[in-house]
Amino acid sequence: MGRLDDKVAIITGGARGQGAAEAKLFASEGARVVITDVLEVEGKQTAHDLGDRVSFMTQDVTSPQRWAEVVDAVHSEYGSVDVLVNNAGIFAPTPLLASSYEDYLRIIEINQHGVFLGMRTVAPIMVAQKAGSIINISSIAGLSGSPGFLAYSTSKWAVRGMTRAAAKELAATGVRINSVHPGIIDTPMARVFDDLGVRAAVDQRIPNGREATADDVAKLVLYLASDDSTYSTGSEFVVDGGWTA
Ligand code: NAD
Repeated sequence: MGRLDDKVAIITGGARGQGAAEAKLFASEGARVVITDVLEVEGKQTAHDLGDRVSFMTQDVTSPQRWAEVVDAVHSEYGSVDVLVNNAGIFAPTPLLASSYEDYLRIIEINQHGVFLGMRTVAPIMVAQKAGSIINISSIAGLSGSPGFLAYSTSKWAVRGMTRAAAKELAATGVRINSVHPGIIDTPMARVFDDLGVRAAVDQRIPNGREATADDVAKLVLYLASDDSTYSTGSEFVVDGGWTA
């Protein structure tokens, strides 16, 4: 018996990093998983490596039309959409005094609007099913201000806010929506700190002394995807080694 037997999951940004770790864990717990990403070559390879239970679709999460196509295709093929992990995201410096509106908007469109579109597209199916779990990946940057990363922080606060509002709207329907707030995770995204020459300094601030692995986060996301978390909705789940304690 797996913890996700018979469940169908979509994980955005699943070609690598945390999304790929979630796909691997979900599949090992019995789920059918569709990973999506703008990285077509990496996404196909990841799906191939993870075996029969995982497949890949190209998707830019900022396109409403592509969201409709992806969700329709998954629903037609497997008969349900039980779990959506809104995981796709980008991370780049956007200090207030050095950022253009375009710099700001690029991050907001992917990290914030992409999550709205995902929820908006799968929610009608989940409401009709009277069941479903949406997990929105925010960050510790959605719990406090991140100097130098204004747009990222804004987008992750927005994810936290829309999670709470949507969760309350849908709470009586059987659809649950929660946000996850990781600290620093050792994935390709964290290379931004290397580029800025601050990774060691950032790591020194982690109270438990190490960055998260993608698996540390995936285990929490698995809990939220599974029926073990049936009573949780509209909640924030922090996995940060003590950073925000
Ligand atoms: P990552 O860069 O390894 O993976 C992110 C994936 O999202 C990539 O495969 C990328 O191609 C994909 N993506 C980017 N733009 C996209 C778009 N428009 N449409 C579809 N896919 C797109 O980073 P990760 O660490 O695995 O990040 C996963 C999530 O975790 C993100 O939401 C990120 O903000 C969040 N997060 C990461 C950290 C960290 O330290 N790595 C910390 C807190 C939160």
